[in-house]
Amino acid sequence: MTKHVTHWIGGKPFGGESGRRGDIFEPASGRVAGTVDLAGPREVGAAVAAAKAAFPGWRDASLSRRAKVLFRFRELVDAHSGELARLISSEHGKVVADAAGEVARGLEVAEFACGIPHLLKGGFSENVSSRVDAYSILQPVGVAAGITPFNFPAMVPMWMFPVAIACGNTFVLKPSEKDPSASVRLAELWAEAGLPDGVFNVLHGDREAVDGLLRHPDVKAVSFVGSTPIARHVYETAAANGKRVQALGGAKNHMLVLPDADLDLAADAAVSAGFGSAGERCMAISVVVAVDPVGDELTAKIKERVAGLRVGPGDHPESQMGPLVTKAHRDRVTSYLDGAVEQGATLAVDGRDPDVLGGAGEGFWLGPAVLDHVTPDMDAYRDEIFGPVLSVVRAGSYDAAMELISANPYGNGTAIFTDDGGAARRFQNEVEVGMVGVNVPIPVPMAYYSFGGWKDSLFGDSHVHGMEGVHFYTRTKAVTARWPDPSHGGVNLGFPTGG
Ligand code: NAD
Repeated sequence: MTKHVTHWIGGKPFGGESGRRGDIFEPASGRVAGTVDLAGPREVGAAVAAAKAAFPGWRDASLSRRAKVLFRFRELVDAHSGELARLISSEHGKVVADAAGEVARGLEVAEFACGIPHLLKGGFSENVSSRVDAYSILQPVGVAAGITPFNFPAMVPMWMFPVAIACGNTFVLKPSEKDPSASVRLAELWAEAGLPDGVFNVLHGDREAVDGLLRHPDVKAVSFVGSTPIARHVYETAAANGKRVQALGGAKNHMLVLPDADLDLAADAAVSAGFGSAGERCMAISVVVAVDPVGDELTAKIKERVAGLRVGPGDHPESQMGPLVTKAHRDRVTSYLDGAVEQGATLAVDGRDPDVLGGAGEGFWLGPAVLDHVTPDMDAYRDEIFGPVLSVVRAGSYDAAMELISANPYGNGTAIFTDDGGAARRFQNEVEVGMVGVNVPIPVPMAYYSFGGWKDSLFGDSHVHGMEGVHFYTRTKAVTARWPDPSHGGVNLGFPTGG
């Protein structure tokens, strides 16, 4: 039996009218598990119109009412996290425990947004001039759109919409068409939590839906997470259409291992961060930079650990790593292994043709692979592979390693492994990367900090969630007020100053 996923507009399912549909795969078996409606201009118009109509009421909802709805939503998502994790695993391929982890990290943003009455406090200054007071207020921007990638179908949307909605905006989410079901389930839970119809809408689709949102005059803010070329396109198009925009792009995350590091800790971290979710994480470690002389010993320890990894369907209790999201993506990732060997790398662990728990069938499988002696001129080093391929690069010194990381166009995440606090401190100070781990391989900030990279990993000025999220989804208004007083001073043609 196959399922059919359709839009969620104005508080209820909304059947597609464009006549276009996409396939939803089950990566573990390779079968088509269902179809999803792909929006055209009419559906884009309907979703934005629903969000626009809901805005005046939601904008004026009291802060305590908004907080109550958010608390209820938080409880409902928590209560349904197992169901959501299984849904995500079936369409994405990641193991269920990992999918539950992404729901938990998304929930942290909802928890942060529950504090909205405190977060929206402006400033107040009494007597900025004689008997004149000044204050600032934070107001929502209107209809916000979120465009999200396949790799975190619950967490990445939840980086955005809890904060946007808490701030009083209405929201149109355009999730990845590869794993669209979690977003509809989240919409149902919002409705159950008491969110008014039209405040949260889900529009399924591909480029046509995205471009429709980017050009729609009633969309005021756009948050995007995905690959760098599309992030750049979204940033440029949204900005050209007068919208505020934050567009998070791809990554190539380096893990620097100094000779004094605990190599067992470093090897555990490299394998966990390289192969968790089959490397389909924007914060995955894809390059280990081993500073001489630890390269051979570290690679040997990584190989030992990789040999013990179990590959299998996301819902198999022993699986640690699932399949890749589509056949095309699996084939692309595999091509980097062939290419790297041709360009001179050593295939220390070959992930092709893995042993799969329960049998590989037609699933989109690739086992964990390790490339050693990778150099910066190789495609496997230069490109974001976004799969279970870990490259080991050797560097002669800390400075050579830092030069390599600085020269990379991406700046999402990085980590240093060392026992030397001074070296770690120098690294965090110098490195041109937005999120830094010290003996922590995946330094994803907590919800009350903000998430975002530097350089080609983010276009725009704001990172997501935390206070930067609150600022992104609000406009500040500064008010200067004088209430009648017999001594107001009469006519004064001078420029207003304090005094
Ligand atoms: P993607 O760029 O292909 O797609 C992202 C979104 O853009 C999807 O909703 C998709 O439908 C839409 N889209 C795709 N092609 C488009 C086009 N030509 N025009 C307009 N919209 C288009 O990314 P993906 O493959 O779904 O996700 C993986 C990528 O996302 C990786 O590059 C990864 O690093 C990145 N990512 C980044 C972060 C971060 O925080 N920086 C987080 C997660 C994922």
